[in-house]
Amino acid sequence: VLQWQGDVLVIGSGFGGSLAALIAQRLGRTVLVVDRGQHPRFAIGESSTPLANLVLESLSKRFDLPWLSPLANYASWKRAAPELDVGLKRGFSYFHHQRNERWSPGNGRDKELLVAASHSESDADTHWLRSDFDSHLVERARQAGIPVWEQTALAGMERTPEGWQLWGQSQGQPCELRPRFVVDATGEGSFLAVQLGLSHVTKQLRTRSRAVFGHFRGVQPWGPLAARAGGQTHQHPFPCDAAALHHVFDGGWMWVLRFDSGVTSAGFSLDPERFPLMLDRTPAEEWRWLLSQFPSIEEQFASATVVAPQAGITRTGRLQRGLATAAGSGYALLPNAVGFIDPLHSTGNAHTLLGLEHLATIWEQHWGRTSMAPALEEYSQRVLAELLTIDQIVAGCQAGFSEFPRMVAMSLFYFVTAIWSEHRRRSGQQVPTSFLCADEPWLQTALSRCRSEVLDLHTPMEQAIPLVCETFGDRNLAGLGDPRWHPWYPYPAE
Ligand SMILES: Cc1cc2nc3c(=O)[nH]c(=O)nc-3n(C[C@H](O)[C@H](O)[C@H](O)COP(=O)(O)OP(=O)(O)OC[C@H]3O[C@@H](n4cnc5c(N)ncnc54)[C@H](O)[C@@H]3O)c2cc1C
Repeated sequence: VLQWQGDVLVIGSGFGGSLAALIAQRLGRTVLVVDRGQHPRFAIGESSTPLANLVLESLSKRFDLPWLSPLANYASWKRAAPELDVGLKRGFSYFHHQRNERWSPGNGRDKELLVAASHSESDADTHWLRSDFDSHLVERARQAGIPVWEQTALAGMERTPEGWQLWGQSQGQPCELRPRFVVDATGEGSFLAVQLGLSHVTKQLRTRSRAVFGHFRGVQPWGPLAARAGGQTHQHPFPCDAAALHHVFDGGWMWVLRFDSGVTSAGFSLDPERFPLMLDRTPAEEWRWLLSQFPSIEEQFASATVVAPQAGITRTGRLQRGLATAAGSGYALLPNAVGFIDPLHSTGNAHTLLGLEHLATIWEQHWGRTSMAPALEEYSQRVLAELLTIDQIVAGCQAGFSEFPRMVAMSLFYFVTAIWSEHRRRSGQQVPTSFLCADEPWLQTALSRCRSEVLDLHTPMEQAIPLVCETFGDRNLAGLGDPRWHPWYPYPAE
């Protein structure tokens, strides 16, 4: 029987799990990482954001992981790790499509939204090719002396006076593990939720979407197609393809993320009531059918071929899931194991990293003390409040998909709070404790007021953005909603 005994067991070796292990080790803990799979492997969840990168940078400094900091920025990543595939992300671009119609720019202002997340390529964000990024982090963990057991499936666990006992199979051999603390970094694998019977809040979540996605080669850039359709792409604050490109339509949206190798990650997030799962079609057939509904997107993908995952186009059930608990005595779940809402606005990775940063502080300040329990309780409440806030924002956007200004209005809740937090981190001022200011009463009040007013079809569409902007006060650092900029916003100066 393979045995291990130590301080921290991390289950799941995505970037969240590997970083949790590296940090725990830097804090003097003995650590083991296990994963049921094996690297390199396909993973979704690729588009980073300024906040995610600021946290990466800060973790790198705080925990003496100097190789990590170059990966927090496009230019330094290219210099330090050219062998890892990456995409340039200058910001977020959104284009609104009508079903069965070619895209057209309308009056030039109500079919687009571009929000910059950087000033230039030198301070730009990244898309992470997760098979490269995650294997690199696992390799760094191994180099740091952390054992990583791949192809390890744990079957059960129970409490012991010192911590936990877990058992299962590792590469065909029985194994027995005795950690003091367990980190669940299994994402949708939901290891602790199953083992501890944690209760769910999924029924409370308002967002409803399912996904159909893959990696492709041969996807045309959108900018030239938009320009040929009359789009004023010269006004864009950054090339709209060097971004998390979103095609938005009534009933869903599509992400398009380009990597430097020529691979493009693309997928549809669909309201299952408007676009029910097509059980009579294969995922590839459904993909082609979806493209055929949007002629300009179909043109963008006319020469595209699927390159990953190996099984081809992937189709999911409902994406939303959520647990009522994120931590307890002797365990914590990283945010993606607690829940997930939707890829809209790329919130997942920043949420994961902020959760990890909080957990690191708890270990640093409370390990072995009785104060650990209330600190973990606070972590649990914060992660859950953040998840519910992401849900409110995304569900609000989703309700606005049919009338683009309403979706833009609701998305400003994401941009204003994210840019506010980024700015405060950079300027060394007190940083909002929660992701997207989720714990701030003004936000919750503003969100519920705007949800009922902005999404009420009696409110004229033109009033949607001004209505939301009223609620932000001096937090709206990028001047979002200002008619002088709308809909092409540069990143605010520091
Ligand atoms: C369709 C989609 C698109 C997304 N796009 C974005 C995006 O553009 N930007 C963004 O910020 N976020 C995005 N996300 C969210 C993103 O995927 C997560 O934030 C991110 O993957 C979290 O990383 P992680 O390391 O915590 O978990 P994961 O990446 O989920 O890794 C979990 C690991 O645990 C292992 N595992 C699972 N179960 C077990 C088990 N029982 N035992 C052992 N090991 C196990 C798996 O093999 C895997 O290696 C997206 C999510 C989805 C579903």
